[in-house]
Amino acid sequence: MTAPEPMSPPEGEGTILRRLDSLRDRTRTWRRRGEVIGVVPTMGALHEGHLSLVRAACADCDRVIVTIFVNPRQFNSPEDLANYPRTEIEDAAKLAPFGVDVIYVPDGDQVYPSGFASTVSVEGLTQVLCGAHRPGHFDGMATVVAKLFAQTAAHRAYFGRKDWQQLQVVRRMARDLDMEIEVVGCPTVREADGLAMSSRNLRLDAEARARAPSLGAVIRDMAAALRDGAALTDLLPGAHARLAEAGFGAIDYLELREASTLEARDHATGATRLFAAAWLGDVRLIDNIPVSGEST
Ligand code: AMP
Repeated sequence: MTAPEPMSPPEGEGTILRRLDSLRDRTRTWRRRGEVIGVVPTMGALHEGHLSLVRAACADCDRVIVTIFVNPRQFNSPEDLANYPRTEIEDAAKLAPFGVDVIYVPDGDQVYPSGFASTVSVEGLTQVLCGAHRPGHFDGMATVVAKLFAQTAAHRAYFGRKDWQQLQVVRRMARDLDMEIEVVGCPTVREADGLAMSSRNLRLDAEARARAPSLGAVIRDMAAALRDGAALTDLLPGAHARLAEAGFGAIDYLELREASTLEARDHATGATRLFAAAWLGDVRLIDNIPVSGEST
């Protein structure tokens, strides 16, 4: 009888590491030599959005670690966690051309050892938008990101503006907890039809995939009207109607907010962004775009 095919390469093969002590062996040497370490935290199912972060990290840093960890603590529903795509072999192949130094795919106990009892919770920023609709999500995210920052000993960390609220929460956490790491925000990468790339897009069937770009189109049109002086409240009924017509179900939010504090705004004054989250069947899509002022 032949042994079953392994589901994924074992630790040490290529650049994949699964254990913290193996990762630390490398990062200690790099730090001793004065090399700058960049980290790109991901949950895998890599697409061009993730790869743009990897590209930025490789351009800026001497050493690059890509982490792949589907973090159970940031999911609010067991179905979403179970359905989240896991494509480790393809992910490693996509990263190969970049020559990243390590792909860190920690075993569960390397992140949450038995008896794990700590949570990082960022107040304020996490109470609105996705925080209001996904209880516990940002605590789970901030906790794992704090751990990955500590485990990778990185000097710089790369995050996408596609998850703008996450980027602001991570920046606040790093400032509040005196983490010596620069949090770099990178532009949202979109499909040719304007849909923001997301691992969850893999779960859209052909019909939903064809409808999905409407979310970005609606917020682009709203942003243009806001720049012309319109009030958000006057634009909402039309925007909701367009999304319903395009086949969207529940709209979790469609809001204008100050870019870094995430305070609600009705008019585009100062640095503002427009944020949307809406359901297409059982897939929740999010998007955001700058409306006024500078925001990075
Ligand atoms: P995820 O694997 O969804 O947790 O995302 C990992 C990182 O990739 C996060 O910093 C995301 O903001 C970023 N990211 C995901 N999609 C995109 C995109 N379309 N453009 C830019 N960055 C993205």
